[in-house]
Amino acid sequence: MLVACGPTAASLVLVNPVNSVYLHIGPMRQIDTIDRLEIISCDPSTGAEIGRVPLANTAYVIEAVKQARIAQPSWSVLSYKQRGHVISRAREVILRDLESIAELISRETGKPKVEAISMEIVPTLDLMHYFAVNTAKLLKPTRIDIGQYGLMGRSSNVIHKPLGVVGIISPWNFPWATPLDEVVMALMAGNAVVVKPSELTPFTALKISEVFEEAQLPSGLLKIVTGDGSTGAALIESGVDKVMFTGSVATGKSVAESAAKHLIPVVLELGGKDPMIVLKDANLTNAARAAVWGAFCNAGQACASIERCYVHESIASQFIELVVRETAKLKQGPTSSDDIDLGAMTNERQLQIVEDHIADAVQNGARIVIGGKRKDEKHGWFHEPTVVTNVNHTMKLMRDETFGPVLPIMTFQTDEEAVHLANDSIYGLTASIFTTNIARGRKLAEKIEAGTVMVNEVVYTHAVGQTPWGGTKQSGYGRTHGRLGLLELVTPQHVHVNSLPSVPDVWWFRYSETARRLFRGFAKRFTTGSLLQSSLLLPQIIKRLLEERKR
Ligand code: NAD
Repeated sequence: MLVACGPTAASLVLVNPVNSVYLHIGPMRQIDTIDRLEIISCDPSTGAEIGRVPLANTAYVIEAVKQARIAQPSWSVLSYKQRGHVISRAREVILRDLESIAELISRETGKPKVEAISMEIVPTLDLMHYFAVNTAKLLKPTRIDIGQYGLMGRSSNVIHKPLGVVGIISPWNFPWATPLDEVVMALMAGNAVVVKPSELTPFTALKISEVFEEAQLPSGLLKIVTGDGSTGAALIESGVDKVMFTGSVATGKSVAESAAKHLIPVVLELGGKDPMIVLKDANLTNAARAAVWGAFCNAGQACASIERCYVHESIASQFIELVVRETAKLKQGPTSSDDIDLGAMTNERQLQIVEDHIADAVQNGARIVIGGKRKDEKHGWFHEPTVVTNVNHTMKLMRDETFGPVLPIMTFQTDEEAVHLANDSIYGLTASIFTTNIARGRKLAEKIEAGTVMVNEVVYTHAVGQTPWGGTKQSGYGRTHGRLGLLELVTPQHVHVNSLPSVPDVWWFRYSETARRLFRGFAKRFTTGSLLQSSLLLPQIIKRLLEERKR
């Protein structure tokens, strides 16, 4: 049975393929371990079918992980420079194919092609360059200051070893940047990778594997397993060494639970309900433009979208007027033309959540200032950019992740109240503060419970690959990007060396009265960290060593 794509159908359709041609997913395509099920990927702004991919079953996933594990050791012995060459070649392929990649991302997600370039491809190219060049420096062995143990001929270094096979499970909202950033970093750290992309955007992920194939990444190191949640669950069960999960809180909890059964470490990049605070002294024109872009870029489907805006009551009416004026200028529609600001939402389920949150808010006294409803487009899942006032924290619109083009605005009187409102959430991904007083902005930032706080900026630091990305509270744990993100993809090994191999340790057997006295001396003097105090122990140390020698 084949179910047509379209606004009334689910965007993910499993079919029994009759004449199906399995699409390229790497060298395993001959293996007969795929259930006779397929996923149909559809263009959310037209409803047209883009193509079909197999739904990989458990056996397929296990085979992918096995091949990745076989390929990994010879990759891990390459130098960072050699790995960087492959990443740089992949970068060149992306640059060459930029237009067609943007087109594909746009078709699978409904986002404007220009936005696919600005929000997905440009940041990833930058990240690829950064990690291709800098991973060696970022993962350089570090010497640890071990204090007075150093005087005893000891030294300690931490080296960073690859984990093995990293499993990446990613969502549909940034189907290119999210998995690819993690693929690049994991590969640079010496790992092999198996990616389970969202069932809504499989072709974008397959393009990533094509790019690396052309860049001559050794076979087996990057595997894409297309499928749904069952494929993701199978990846966790398959024995990967770490899971990098990006998605909803609900799925994140289930992923953490499954991984815990195997003691597999997990990074969880989950949802957000990100607040923006506009202080009285903010540049209002910029703040309003930032709020509109922060709430409506990617049709509001960014984990760091501005989902709550708090503005000082003395400037609220002026701010709202500016926001509405900016919103009214936005052009929405199918992404075929370059001057479209907002495309369709990627799936109807998300659109229904947006409608539900707006209806709940209106029922409880909220006022829609502009927008407010699904757009009457024949084939696509469009929702108007919507600004809502008279909101409060009892409403779903201010508590749950909406993940759509809605900007609720609320007022506050004092900085303390603004911070309290911003922190009154189960989420803690990013937050923004707008003020012309930078010192005041920095100070307030420290009081906000979020993984990233931006002053006079919104949303965009995911694009700054040098900086850590991740949340607090239910927005998850662990980090991607930056050195902290790289450290998630390696295992630290402490190498401790005694450079005086012929001298025995004074704390070894056998114990004696001399030993007892010396240990007491250690407790009293050595642990003070004072060289002078410790030097007073020298006669006892010599006595102990001589005692040992007599044995
Ligand atoms: P989702 O949780 O529904 O799915 C995410 C991925 O998990 C998909 O690939 C899905 O197939 C897979 N999956 C589903 N069930 C699974 C299971 N039991 N075991 C393993 N994998 C399973 O999320 P979504 O709807 O695709 O994405 C939207 C969510 O992602 C939003 O909440 C958004 O905030 C969040 N997100 C967070 C970040 C971040 O960096 N914090 C970035 C992008 C998106």
